[in-house]
Amino acid sequence: MKWVYNFGAGKAEGRADLAERLGGKGANLAEMCLMGLPVPPGLTIVADACNHFLVEGRHFPDGLKASVVEGLQKIEIQTGRKFGSANQPLLLSVRSGSRVSMPGMMDTVLNLGLNDDTVVALARDTGDERFAWDSYRRFIEMYGGVVMGLGHDIFEEILDDEKARLGRALDTEMLAAEWQGVVARYKDMLDEELGQSFPMDPMAQLWGAIGAVFSSWTNNRAITYRMLHNIPDDWGTAVNVQAMVFGNLGNSSATGVAFTRNPSTGARALYGEFLVNAQGEDVVAGIRTPQSITDQARIETGSEKPSLEKLMPEAFAEFTAVCDRLEAHYKDMLDLEFTIERGKLWMLQVRPGKRTARAAMRIAVDMVSEGLISEAEAVDRIDPSSLDQLLHPTIDPNARGEIIGSGLPASPGAAAGEIVFTSEAALIAEKEGRKVILVRTETSPEDIHGMHAAEGILTTRGGMTSHAAVVARGMGIPCVCGAGNLRVDMRNHELVGHGFKLSEGDIISIDGSSGQVLKGLQPMLQPELSPDFEKIMGWADKIRRMRVRTNAETPSDARAARSFGAEGIGLCRTEHMFFEGDRINQMREMILAETIEERREALNVLLPMQRADFVELFEIMHGTPVTIRLLDPPLHEFLPKSEEEIDEVAARIGMEAVHLRERIDALHEFNPMLGHRGCRLHISHPEIVEMQARAIFEAAVEAARRTGAAVVPEIMVPVVGLKAELDYVKARIDAVAKSVMDESGMKIEYLVGTMIELPRAALRAHVIAEVAEFFSYGTNDLTQTTFGMSRDDASSFLPTYMQKGIIERDPFVNLDFDGVGELIQIAAERGRRTRPGLKLGICGEHGGDPVSINFCEQWGLDYVSCSPFRVPIAKLAAAQATI
Ligand code: ADP
Ligand code: MG
Ligand code: MG
Repeated sequence: MKWVYNFGAGKAEGRADLAERLGGKGANLAEMCLMGLPVPPGLTIVADACNHFLVEGRHFPDGLKASVVEGLQKIEIQTGRKFGSANQPLLLSVRSGSRVSMPGMMDTVLNLGLNDDTVVALARDTGDERFAWDSYRRFIEMYGGVVMGLGHDIFEEILDDEKARLGRALDTEMLAAEWQGVVARYKDMLDEELGQSFPMDPMAQLWGAIGAVFSSWTNNRAITYRMLHNIPDDWGTAVNVQAMVFGNLGNSSATGVAFTRNPSTGARALYGEFLVNAQGEDVVAGIRTPQSITDQARIETGSEKPSLEKLMPEAFAEFTAVCDRLEAHYKDMLDLEFTIERGKLWMLQVRPGKRTARAAMRIAVDMVSEGLISEAEAVDRIDPSSLDQLLHPTIDPNARGEIIGSGLPASPGAAAGEIVFTSEAALIAEKEGRKVILVRTETSPEDIHGMHAAEGILTTRGGMTSHAAVVARGMGIPCVCGAGNLRVDMRNHELVGHGFKLSEGDIISIDGSSGQVLKGLQPMLQPELSPDFEKIMGWADKIRRMRVRTNAETPSDARAARSFGAEGIGLCRTEHMFFEGDRINQMREMILAETIEERREALNVLLPMQRADFVELFEIMHGTPVTIRLLDPPLHEFLPKSEEEIDEVAARIGMEAVHLRERIDALHEFNPMLGHRGCRLHISHPEIVEMQARAIFEAAVEAARRTGAAVVPEIMVPVVGLKAELDYVKARIDAVAKSVMDESGMKIEYLVGTMIELPRAALRAHVIAEVAEFFSYGTNDLTQTTFGMSRDDASSFLPTYMQKGIIERDPFVNLDFDGVGELIQIAAERGRRTRPGLKLGICGEHGGDPVSINFCEQWGLDYVSCSPFRVPIAKLAAAQATI
């Protein structure tokens, strides 16, 4: 095992693409050395050593010590200094660095190797006694904090006390002897606090620091960060041990950070900050106000303090040249850390710079016109999920509102309004022109209207595929769901949190992109679609193979989806259409009908309503394919639940309340998701499919006449597990098609296909494909039925599963490629064996998830279908999947 990789003096054992082993920082330090850039020599200990250390009870692996000592000798030769020597001592920085950057999460120790002897040598070598003692006190602060585990405050207290005693306002005013006094007090304090002296042996310091950096991988900050960003715990961190260079060596020295382009707008201008006579953390710590690097930026920010460009023109010129070389080499916008020691520039870090979605677009488009990258590379550069930032308002990151709760970021966008607890209250508010956030424990199909009327939705229970989440995403309404630290008290109409209560009418803001809930009205940033966005989407369209459709049933959703470039509807859930307006009551009459005649009558009332909806949808979609799913959910979902509601409905439809209650009881199911639903309904009550088919075909005729564009409806049968089920339902559809064609004298092209959402359907796909003309994977249900895990109840145990490492990701959010994915593949292969060219699509929530879309490409699906606001994300992800 090679534990240690050296770099320095234009040579390196590592390189940029070894980040897995060397961490991002180490790999890129090596790369900069190979490019011949000025980098202080050093060595990188591989991340595996960290894993070993953490697993083996904090013991360093065999052979590591010898390798580090050997590597250290190389650094000594390259710098002409000796570690621990009282003559030209070598000082080191010990820096963490994992595979992906985890800013500020782990620890760094600077100026390591200083002790009571080497500090004197350093003062003599540099001729700057003040600098030497300043560095020593910094070292004790960092080492005391990172390795010996003391809080920062305890040092700050002593420092403030000394400064006050000496009448010094700024650190920079402190004299050598005064720093020396601070060092003495620090050491006394350590003796006292820990009963343990500050280590004078540099080797002991070095191993102490290496161990502490390894251990910092498991500090709370780092653990939380990894959880939030899906970073595996077993990656570990590499450690970089590097010769120190000094930005605090007087007024010709400085330290700074920079981006090669503006990270918030993407503008092509060096952007950064520095401090004269300072070291490392000073810039970010905010002790002093940093200065702009370029003169342009100084003018823009209206700062009085001179820029680096003015102050150190030669170092500045060298730095800009280095930036240009690095950008040309990495072909990306970069984030840099540098130090200038007595006029000499040293590069300390490079990595791709974090940027806003808007900046990412601009940079990618600019880099294409600069000839740095190709159109495909530009498309590949944009994180599809970041488009959410562009398509929805967000809470201004500069807002300092009070966060009162947090849940899952279920539907992106920010919203603010008065709290309401019922759909009725939301509807009233809408009429009165007031903005509201609908707050519920969870939502049900009956809340659809209230959800529509609300600016945003907050639930305290439920996961990413809960009703609230799915519907809100479909509507493009911001939603935070499963905010477990909040509770809805329906009795008193209050939202209860830790130590506070909010009432109906109180204002809150939610951010469905971050999952945060804040008190009061927070300032928002409005979305803007730039020409850069259009360009990137245009390139993505040229590259991708899969089509992107949308899940939509309302005209407004369909229009929104078209404006985002949806190429058809992949899923129109007809049950949603029955919740509109007064239809729910017609629907209830149909469900409660006791004879077939009664049911036919009720269906006859629903027919023209459905037909009108389809005509409108077909017109909006203008000849692009529209997939309509027959009524799917268990019927009792449409029935009233509370006693009050039952009484009300009974009165409205002229039925005795007792009798209604009996009927509702009769429809009760123990496990409705696996009960009387999907095609089973249409087989029990074929008059339902007949009504729906008639509405579809008559609408197709009418829309075709009106628009002149042929409409080819794709009728989709849900919850099919047996070929015979599909045979039965298809026969009904075909019969209706024939009679509508006879009546209208017009030929209608149509397809009948099926959802693949039961494992049996996937396994028997070759047989089902004898009848089905297309498959659409309903991955929400397929995940549910494959795992045997109720998606409405999974939130009570999935978080524990993830915490205990039983499962890595929520399979309802990120498709389970191994299990559900294998079923998808099997169905695709077997289906196409029977029917070559069988059209395959996916319409679950996963249709808008970039990682899942990538797999859809590999499985050769023809299209993905997602909620309207995810269409651009899906298009970009589909393009990236082909690159
Ligand atoms: P982080 O990952 O938190 O950015 P770094 O390892 O980059 O931590 O260290 C933080 C800062 O410490 C750097 O930006 C740099 O200013 C300073 N630093 C690190 N190594 C050296 C070094 N060899 N010489 C001088 N300063 C250093
Ligand atoms: Mg850094
Ligand atoms: Mg389903």
